[in-house]
Amino acid sequence: MPQPDVSTGSDALERKTSLDPADWQAFRQAAHRMLDDTIDHIANVGQKPAWQPMPPETRAKFTRSLPLDPRAIDDVLGDVREHIFPYATGNLHPLFMGWVHGAGTPVGMVAEMVAAGLNMNCGGRDHVGIEVEKQITRWMAEALGYPRSASGLFVTGSSMANFLALIVARTEALGEGVRRDGLGEAGGQLVAYTSSQAHVCIAQAMELSGIGSANLRSVGVDEAGRMSMQALRAAIAKDRARGFRPFLVVGTAGTVNTGAVDPLEEIAGIAEAEKIWFHVDGAIGALGVLAPALKNLFAGIERSASVALDFHKWGHVPYDAGFLLVRDSDAHKRAFAQPAAYLQRSGRGLAAGDTWPCDLGPDLSRGFRALKTWMTIEMLGAERMGNAMAHTCELARYLAARLGRDPRFEIRAPVALNIVCFGIGGANDDFIRELVLDLHETGLAVPSWTTVDGELAVRCAIVNHRTTKADIDSFVTILSERLG
Ligand SMILES: *Cc1c(COP(=O)(O)O)cnc(C)c1O
Repeated sequence: MPQPDVSTGSDALERKTSLDPADWQAFRQAAHRMLDDTIDHIANVGQKPAWQPMPPETRAKFTRSLPLDPRAIDDVLGDVREHIFPYATGNLHPLFMGWVHGAGTPVGMVAEMVAAGLNMNCGGRDHVGIEVEKQITRWMAEALGYPRSASGLFVTGSSMANFLALIVARTEALGEGVRRDGLGEAGGQLVAYTSSQAHVCIAQAMELSGIGSANLRSVGVDEAGRMSMQALRAAIAKDRARGFRPFLVVGTAGTVNTGAVDPLEEIAGIAEAEKIWFHVDGAIGALGVLAPALKNLFAGIERSASVALDFHKWGHVPYDAGFLLVRDSDAHKRAFAQPAAYLQRSGRGLAAGDTWPCDLGPDLSRGFRALKTWMTIEMLGAERMGNAMAHTCELARYLAARLGRDPRFEIRAPVALNIVCFGIGGANDDFIRELVLDLHETGLAVPSWTTVDGELAVRCAIVNHRTTKADIDSFVTILSERLG
């Protein structure tokens, strides 16, 4: 059979309607050059500014009106090189320590390219994308001490994963009827618990669910920023006495401010005794179970009912790769599965399969996030990934120790994981903000700031697998020079 000529479009009409390139060879060359440039960008990222402000020409570049006519690919890629590469977030840089951002990996980049090339819709049906996602679910169940029957779902990030977990917990508390009837008044007001250090997305999940953030109790913490069990018990008892209905407690494995890990084992005990859903926000920390040196910090996570985690933070899978793991897959499905004529299953063909990802969350069309996660874990191995995480904790302790020896600095929170918060002697809030922003603008380093015990502190979240001890030394030097 003659092969179709792929180098040039054969039919004039098709050339106009198909969106494929007319000249595959030219496209191939342009794409290869872009791949090389992206690899160069990653390989040399440490020599470039961690961040730099965009010039007005770049902002202006993205304000033109909707183009009707095509441009050559080399021309468009030229814009990418000139206007996109230099003004990225900066989180690939070894001295990017502001906020908890993953640094990505080259293999993850290749995976994204392949995933886009295959352009699978991973909402459901019987194809390999669904199997790869199930593989990740089984790996996470294994790593976190969940049963093999647990269910898992890729979502954008932990904000979404935490929200979905809350919806599962709500549906289990009130029964599936709540999906149709809404919250109503039946059985008392639902209330949930999390620590005062929890991420704001937990309160937002309460808002989105319709339960309302006023029904989220902010439980006090100890000096190390961990949820106080005494305060949790007291809050639950008080709510029960008032006729409220406790349904959920959210423990945090790695708080966003200081990296504190709540006493998960004790929370599990209380949740079991109170018969309430125990969810762990493990956005930052849950993957730490892959590091033998860190695993004990998360003891008790295996007793939770669900875990939210981000492969795109400490796991360095390219954005976005949030994940929800639920112990009871039936409960997970009860919250989301929809009977729809166009989603009917069959015993064979592409419509086969019992549970599809669209039964486990609100997304129907979804990309192949599992591939970049699978390729990253397959290529690096869990041990190396765990060691990279443990190393960032060592670097955080090293930074805290170096700053601690200098009388100009004051460590403001215990370093439980990889986050260091410090004050500067005699400096007010404005000074700290200006210092941090000046550092951003020099492009030398990107820390951020946060509030610890009501006072502003410089915050360094050391997440990056590229950060070395020498980088930390140079950061201390940069800081010292700025302070004069
Ligand atoms: C980052 C973070 C979140 C939110 O996760 P996204 O992936 O940004 O949506 C939630 N909780 C904690 C503790 C976080 O650090």
